[in-house]
Amino acid sequence: MTTAPVIELRDVTRSFPGPPEVQALKAVNLRVDEGDYVSIVGPSGSGKSTMLNILGLLDRPTVGEYVLAGTGTGTLNENERAAVRARRLGFVFQSFHLLPRRSVLENVMLPMLYSGAPRAEREPRARAALERVGLGHRLDFRPGLLSGGERQRVAVARAVVTRPRVLLADEPTGNLDQKTTGEIMALFEELNDDGLTLVIITHDQHVAERARRTIRIADGRMSELS
Ligand code: ADP
Ligand code: MG
Repeated sequence: MTTAPVIELRDVTRSFPGPPEVQALKAVNLRVDEGDYVSIVGPSGSGKSTMLNILGLLDRPTVGEYVLAGTGTGTLNENERAAVRARRLGFVFQSFHLLPRRSVLENVMLPMLYSGAPRAEREPRARAALERVGLGHRLDFRPGLLSGGERQRVAVARAVVTRPRVLLADEPTGNLDQKTTGEIMALFEELNDDGLTLVIITHDQHVAERARRTIRIADGRMSELS
């Protein structure tokens, strides 16, 4: 495993103009190496999602720089940001965000429309991703027929089918019971063993402690817990 940083935030501040102006992140410096496994904790409203949105190229720093895989992102236009997002990053959210009228297989094929995967590869790759998360027998189901844990497995398959460098997760176990939480975390950790970099926001102390590093955000300021 290499130790080149895949993510670097350099003195990143994110202000929302308001009024009243909110500084959701204050001069944050973060370096995440390739293959790392990082949890992010902190009270509600402390800036966790703001940081993840910046890491995911869904939002921009007001001040400071975000370097992703060695490339500064500040000068990218919206199309370039969308392309980097589609090819390099995977996302998992608390509320799954699956399309209800599409099958499980179609949901997982969708991100490959934007990632540049050759057309002929899309369906076999989606099937393989779903088999990997233990849902090879649910390809034709609509998401509404699945349990919460199964829906999150679909979301994980959808996040990794594009073979991202980094997986960003915002409270991925927030809607799951304890047993299902353990199963989803084990799945993330298998992916991490294969080299995928994980950044996971969580309110769950047990989830946070599984990571190799834990970062705490409080009132927009970041500190590293040992
Ligand atoms: P967390 O995810 O830790 O709960 P957030 O990053 O969502 O916190 O929010 C951090 C702070 O920034 C909060 O005070 C929130 O109200 C504010 N905030 C987040 N997004 C916006 C926005 N789009 N406009 C204005 N304020 C925002
Ligand atoms: Mg949040």
